[in-house]
Amino acid sequence: MIVVGQLLLECAETPGAARLAPGYVRVEDGFIAEVVEGELPSTCDLGGPECLVSPGLIDTHLHLPQFDMIGAHGMPLLEWLMGVTFPSESRWEDAAFAAAMTERVAKQLVSVGTTTVCAYSTVHHEATVAAIETLSKAGLRGVVGQAMSDRYAPDNLVGGTKELLDQTANLLEQFPHSGRLAAAITPRFAVSCTPELLSGAGRLAAENPEVIVQTHLSETIPECQLIGELYDGSKYVDVYRAHGLVTERTLFGHGIHLDAAERAVLREASAVIAHCPLANSFLRSGAMNRAMAINEGVRLSLGSDIGGGYERSMVRVARAMVETASALGDVYPTPADAWWQITAGNADAAGFADAGRLQPGAPADLFIAEPDLPWLESPVNPLAMILFAWDDRWVRQTLVRGDVAYRAG
Ligand SMILES: [Zn+2]
Repeated sequence: MIVVGQLLLECAETPGAARLAPGYVRVEDGFIAEVVEGELPSTCDLGGPECLVSPGLIDTHLHLPQFDMIGAHGMPLLEWLMGVTFPSESRWEDAAFAAAMTERVAKQLVSVGTTTVCAYSTVHHEATVAAIETLSKAGLRGVVGQAMSDRYAPDNLVGGTKELLDQTANLLEQFPHSGRLAAAITPRFAVSCTPELLSGAGRLAAENPEVIVQTHLSETIPECQLIGELYDGSKYVDVYRAHGLVTERTLFGHGIHLDAAERAVLREASAVIAHCPLANSFLRSGAMNRAMAINEGVRLSLGSDIGGGYERSMVRVARAMVETASALGDVYPTPADAWWQITAGNADAAGFADAGRLQPGAPADLFIAEPDLPWLESPVNPLAMILFAWDDRWVRQTLVRGDVAYRAG
């Protein structure tokens, strides 16, 4: 299969940025066999000279069971959890419901060009197995974690400490990290986990150093105060560090209200903050200072945090990242940085070495979009134009493992 268009490639001269080049991608047996710049064949199977050909987008923080409750506005985090989120997650007690919902979610993801996710399920084991199997069947790549909680949630959303750890251990065996869709170690957040559960999760992380760990960190100030009360005045990052959960494979959702010492702990461990700008503004949690984190050497990724965030499109999440940084100061990502972040940048942060890139040997996870603006003739930088004017209706096809998983119309 030959896919022609303006290829979104990594910028060799400016690491951390993307660039465009006319050319084509040859797909064979689910993988990218060839990437040719500067040459447009006269015939092709997909795309065309006016089309964008982008690596599939990567969302490094989202909650599968929360897609049906997007838009619950007007509540701070802890109230939002109790009032809207936990009732929605309760529905995943029914694994068949979880499978059907995940099938819908997978369709939504590929329709906006997302092919790789780092996702949370709920506390329910059978629902998590169903979610992994369903996403896998849909061809998506990434990880899903059973969101472990053994306190601070309604009775039907907490599990026994040992039971939860055993279940996650089983998931790690059933869906190993070498698979296209793997299990992650996912203590929901230190508020809803006892120290015993965090320690057990830390043990699993030590025994499985390749496995992604996902949790939440310093999203709101009341949450940080609650951590102080629950953990003898400890700082939030120190709670996770004490339990062996600050690792180079850890994706910490949010990381807004951290001090310099906490950021230094993250830097030293090469841990990642999964920045979720839209969820942060929507729940009025605060604004993560991306420029400061980068300056201090903290690794970053970007996530939608659906349903705290309301945008399924990672392009619009990237736009929100630019807007959040612009509001905080004079150092903000360029459109080229933003496109890199939601492709190769997120792949690097989450450790998916050959995702997020149009390169020979990588799985053919990509999408083709046809902007309805004269993006290649405009005086505006084309990457800026399509970032800020982005419209999901431009997506014509999304490929996962070389198969067309979404086709417009
Ligand atoms: Zn989250």
